[in-house]
Amino acid sequence: MPVAAKADVVVVGGGPGGFAAALQAARMGASVVLVEKFDMPGGVHTSGLQGAANEGVGGIHTELMARFEAAGYIYIATEETLPEWTGNPLSHYEKMKKPGDRFSRSSFNPEGAGSIMSAMLAEAGVEAMFGTAFLDVALNEYGDGIDAIIVANASGIQAIQGRIFIDGTGTSELVARAGAPFVRGGGPQPSGADWDGRHRPIPGGLLWTMSGVDFTKTAAHQKTAKDPTLAKLIAEADAAGDIPQGLYRPRMTGKGVYGEHYIGHPTLDMSPIEAPDSFILWQNVPYEWALHMDDDARDEARAKSALRGFIDAEAQFLRKYVPGFENAYLTNVGRYVGTRDGRHPLGEYIFSIDDAQQGRSFDDAVTSPMTKTFFWDGFKRHTFQVPYRCFLPKKIDNLLLTGASLSFSYETIFMVMRNFPWCTQTGEIAGFAAARSVEQGIGPKELQWDQPYF
Ligand SMILES: Cc1cc2nc3c(=O)[nH]c(=O)nc-3n(C[C@H](O)[C@H](O)[C@H](O)COP(=O)(O)OP(=O)(O)OC[C@H]3O[C@@H](n4cnc5c(N)ncnc54)[C@H](O)[C@@H]3O)c2cc1C
Repeated sequence: MPVAAKADVVVVGGGPGGFAAALQAARMGASVVLVEKFDMPGGVHTSGLQGAANEGVGGIHTELMARFEAAGYIYIATEETLPEWTGNPLSHYEKMKKPGDRFSRSSFNPEGAGSIMSAMLAEAGVEAMFGTAFLDVALNEYGDGIDAIIVANASGIQAIQGRIFIDGTGTSELVARAGAPFVRGGGPQPSGADWDGRHRPIPGGLLWTMSGVDFTKTAAHQKTAKDPTLAKLIAEADAAGDIPQGLYRPRMTGKGVYGEHYIGHPTLDMSPIEAPDSFILWQNVPYEWALHMDDDARDEARAKSALRGFIDAEAQFLRKYVPGFENAYLTNVGRYVGTRDGRHPLGEYIFSIDDAQQGRSFDDAVTSPMTKTFFWDGFKRHTFQVPYRCFLPKKIDNLLLTGASLSFSYETIFMVMRNFPWCTQTGEIAGFAAARSVEQGIGPKELQWDQPYF
């Protein structure tokens, strides 16, 4: 097999985790190849359209926010540009606020952001191979290290050799192909959710955008028709055969994260993005379907075609029935259905909800104590650290984990420990660890980690 490239560090996947890992390792002097199947870095946040911008949390994340801002790619909606938004049942993020509350919702333009991230990789000297799909690994003769990855692209099937590899696939695909241990998404579920014994992953979703929306008109209709959730319009469209089964499904009830988050779409689920008349909308996989899109091609295909069907139906419904959407048009559909609960690698340490609840600290902590709100145990705040060992998978000695592929239990990974800022931080940490290991001529498991990076 032809060898396309050789590098100190080979990163698979260019999402927030893989992107920051490649950038940091290259900035520290390592030669770096990044393999990404789509046409830009950013993963769920660019190719998947999830352009939620956050306050910088330091390092590459803060730099990214500043670069997006300087390029004019940040858009901020407030109570002045979008009155009637807080407390509105259609709002993804602000529906829990009280009507009239102040708010500031910042988003970035996913396409523009992807171009900036691409330029940053080039500036740092990363060889970014876009349009290149990772297929498999070639292990060493002992089976405890990766010699090369096998990829497919316009040149055919090729090998890329490296000293240290980083799994930035978001679904631990490199871990799985290398034979390192992991558990499948969908752990034991909160009460009632695994009624038939099937483990259901936290559903993934496909995001899409619509422009030309006059939301002032929609809000006026919600009030005058006394139809805050648009339930009356949905019922009317349903009676006319314009709503496919499952499009507006009730949220499931039950304890824990699944009760009130992401499960079911009783109505529109939207948030401002890019411009005053543009919104991003969520289409999540129906939870009941128990799809494992990360490791089952039929499940992935079913999710893609069903969600695109829902999006088309929703766009038609909005234009035909909902005041304010008469002149709206579908602008973009994400390039892929994002996975929220894929494989969970079993690393040298598995970070669990107990670690957060007990507020554990570690000698090999990668950050100073962090305080985060956990959905799983009823929105409680916990202050804790995360050990470097969560970045080290068992069995394979020259592989680092990052982003949504860290060694975390599935309750902790839900939303809290796999958000964009944190994934960017973990990428930077993994890139640092890889470059340090290269400098010292050791594997990442031998690296002495004695002070927090952040
Ligand atoms: C629907 C959805 C909505 C979300 N909403 C939010 C939100 O509002 N705020 C927030 O902070 N976080 C949100 N998240 C979480 C966050 O987006 C992810 O956890 C984060 O993007 C994970 O980063 P990552 O780098 O690990 O993986 P990803 O972002 O998934 O990136 C993985 C990259 O690897 C590439 N890749 C995968 N397999 C291969 C292969 N075989 N060959 C080559 N390339 C490959 C993919 O193309 C992709 O670019 C959401 C996630 C989803 C799925």
